[in-house]
Amino acid sequence: MKLIDAIERQLRQLDEQSLTRERRVIDTPCKPRLMVNGRALLAFASNDYLGLAAHPRVVDALREGADLYGAGSGASHLISGHSLAHQRLEDRLAEFVGAHLESARALSFCTGYMANLAILTTLGADGDAQIFSESLNHASLIDGARLARAAVKVYPHADLAALGALLAASNATAKLVVTDSVFSMDGDIAPLPELLALCEEHGAWLVIDDAHGFGVLGAHGRGALEHFNLRSPNIVYMGTLGKAAGVGGAFVAAHASVIELMIQRGRPYIYTTAAPPALAHALMTSIDIIGGDEGASRRAHLQSLIAAFDEQIDLKRWQRVPSATAIQAIVIGTNEEVLRIGAGLHGHGLWVPAIRPPTVPEGTARLRVTLSAAHTHDEVAQLAAVLNDLERT
Ligand SMILES: *Cc1c(COP(=O)(O)O)cnc(C)c1O
Repeated sequence: MKLIDAIERQLRQLDEQSLTRERRVIDTPCKPRLMVNGRALLAFASNDYLGLAAHPRVVDALREGADLYGAGSGASHLISGHSLAHQRLEDRLAEFVGAHLESARALSFCTGYMANLAILTTLGADGDAQIFSESLNHASLIDGARLARAAVKVYPHADLAALGALLAASNATAKLVVTDSVFSMDGDIAPLPELLALCEEHGAWLVIDDAHGFGVLGAHGRGALEHFNLRSPNIVYMGTLGKAAGVGGAFVAAHASVIELMIQRGRPYIYTTAAPPALAHALMTSIDIIGGDEGASRRAHLQSLIAAFDEQIDLKRWQRVPSATAIQAIVIGTNEEVLRIGAGLHGHGLWVPAIRPPTVPEGTARLRVTLSAAHTHDEVAQLAAVLNDLERT
């Protein structure tokens, strides 16, 4: 048998289970109206919650960043790739979320995936440490926990009593409670104040992945920490910069000594080329917009779209996951059915991604609608009407 046969068998198995994924080719900037494989579609598919990915000021800043710093960083941060643009961005981010931490410092990363690996492998390096991981956590947190030497315990979704019992029974040298703030495939928000109280009671770190909260939650867009007005030296905060901030990358904010240890020991931080400085330069403009009046009015528009969708959608068979955020999941059930509905939406010129296992649990294949401040009320009404229709046919 040829080597390639085993590979092709795996691909056939995926196909038989309706689990094959395909990449669609977009040749327009990230906006609600896209050219997708050569066809115009109205998309509810991106994580560009504030519509900054194609914002003229951010795009201009990226161009200016390229003029100032060139195309690439040339090396990792600890060799010669750490530019003034990275340093300024880190200082700005530390100031932006620092009121919620103690002696805050921020560290920038190429991606949120890598930031999560760095947090968990640095704080969970000791084999006698324990990671308490929420069951619906993002894949990057699951992979970070696997890569860490610490033992991993998974607690059921939002189950404070179960987590409390696990923490009380633990005599680990270091304890890390790890959770998404806004769950990426469900849209609900973790009970962070209660989780923090448990962490403080049991001497545990609270690692918060705010990929879908940073820029969107809180009066000034400072994310889940501002939304709940949390303040604690136990918090290790991760925000991504490719979603609401519209560019790419991520950052970790925590006590300066935690950050210093990540610089010294965090392999996903150390052994990779620094992101192009122009991205950091563009992100300064994103943060200005997020923290200013324009950010506030974009968040207010997004909230009004979320309320309108909630009011207009009227489903009998499909299950909506209760959510007050821009992520609105509609659980359909089987992989075949969700693909069929996805194709039906496509027929109406709409694009909503069909999410299947292993991204979500078996039997809970779903449509994941994401709303953005770049959408209009008419566009949201159109989506709700088509979904209501499709459910009845
Ligand atoms: C998108 C996402 C990440 C990864 O961030 P990237 O910058 O895209 O690598 C991490 N956690 C959650 C919850 C996410 O949704």
